[in-house]
Amino acid sequence: MGEQSVDGLFRRAAEHALRFRDGISGIPQKPQVSYLASLKGFREPLPIEGCAGPGVIDELVAKAEPGLHTMTGPRFFGWVIGGSHPVGVAADWLTSAWGQNTGNHHATPAAAAAEAVAGGWLLDLLDLPTESSIGFVTGATVANFVCLAAARGAVLRRVGWDVEGQGLFGAPPIAVLIGDDAHATVFSALQFLGLGHDRVIRVKTDGAGRILTSDFAEVAGKVSGPCIAILQAGQINTGAFDDFEGIIPIAKEIGAWVHVDGAFGLWARACPQRSGLAKGVDGADSWATDGHKWLQTPYDCGYAIVRNEEAHRRAMTTAASYLPPSFEGERDPSHFVPELSRRARGFATWGMIKHLGRDGIAAMVERHCRVAHAMAERLRSEEGIEVLNDVVLNQFLVRFGAKHPGDEADRLTQRTIERIQTDGVCFCGGATWRGGKVMRVSVISWLTDDLAGDVAADAIIAAWRAVRANEASVSA
Ligand SMILES: *Cc1c(COP(=O)(O)O)cnc(C)c1O
Repeated sequence: MGEQSVDGLFRRAAEHALRFRDGISGIPQKPQVSYLASLKGFREPLPIEGCAGPGVIDELVAKAEPGLHTMTGPRFFGWVIGGSHPVGVAADWLTSAWGQNTGNHHATPAAAAAEAVAGGWLLDLLDLPTESSIGFVTGATVANFVCLAAARGAVLRRVGWDVEGQGLFGAPPIAVLIGDDAHATVFSALQFLGLGHDRVIRVKTDGAGRILTSDFAEVAGKVSGPCIAILQAGQINTGAFDDFEGIIPIAKEIGAWVHVDGAFGLWARACPQRSGLAKGVDGADSWATDGHKWLQTPYDCGYAIVRNEEAHRRAMTTAASYLPPSFEGERDPSHFVPELSRRARGFATWGMIKHLGRDGIAAMVERHCRVAHAMAERLRSEEGIEVLNDVVLNQFLVRFGAKHPGDEADRLTQRTIERIQTDGVCFCGGATWRGGKVMRVSVISWLTDDLAGDVAADAIIAAWRAVRANEASVSA
């Protein structure tokens, strides 16, 4: 810090943050500059002499802001991105200011305790087995990795193989059953674990991306030996849920470890009107979910939840310290995650659950589902716009120029997405679904309400009409 006081620096950062967040609804919902322009702004030779702190922060803001996306805005529907709620952000500022390396409970009793308590609250909210252990990680990608590491260890231990000690060399093979429409990052987790993203048995799915239970039964019937079955709560494009009540008993019959990727969809469990979608999911062995999606914690935050704490600890703990804690209830955060030195993610999670409460979380999830449904209905009523899925949750897919031949509808959909993004009233991105171009809408920001949904639907319809009018005038 030198002669600079913390006061000047921290207040400055807070002022910049205040201005940014207070203005987010009123600016175009898109970055103002491209990646290359942003790169140009940042690029300079390695600084030889240092700069004063407040100047560094001012310059960072000036260089970064034009290239920031409005991910915290009310009409941002891209990918599946939570809105970094101010309470979570404030807790996260303190987390940084406190500077706790959250490996173990001796070093930082409060950070370890906040995780322990927030973890218990999460199990309660998501209605998962109370004996489960939780690792606070960076997101669902790593949560999937942690859970599948526990799965790998457990299914091999049952056939006498110690994968944590001996690795996979010479190990009995593991059959990995996974739905055709699983999230790409689950395949990444399999890749990191030496299980291979291609060496899986893919199970067929229906039009919404749900595993076909009959196909699962057929495939499971042919499996012998160690097996991991990977299911999904909330398909990234359609929000659909696998048939847990039908599939999990079949998987259990063949001794499989059942893992569920529920990055956002698991939060349906926290909402009485939607929890039926994930009925029976508590019969699984492990679950991956995010804090930075539906719980609105700032980035980054995810949770790896494992029913069998010992399997979890064996997979993650540094060299053989997986034995139960010597004192009742003393939990070291690093025993449940890959990292040793790590951020105290428990504080923001604690803060968000404390702020919203069970009722507030339930109401938010339900509101997002209601807004998604209403937006989809508005779009459906416009000629030429097709919504491709039943809006059971907060995700839906749109195709423009529905009556046109496939490649023509692809082009019109792409044009309309570009138009929507240029207009900047709302932000939606594109994807490919069942071989065709689609626009994805994901309603998951704490700021998004019915009005935001209406304004966005108007903007999407207006963009489509403009594209159509333009087409007509070109062909005339
Ligand atoms: C977002 C998402 C992931 C990946 O989560 P990250 O938080 O980005 O690591 C995995 N699965 C599903 C279904 C998701 O929506």
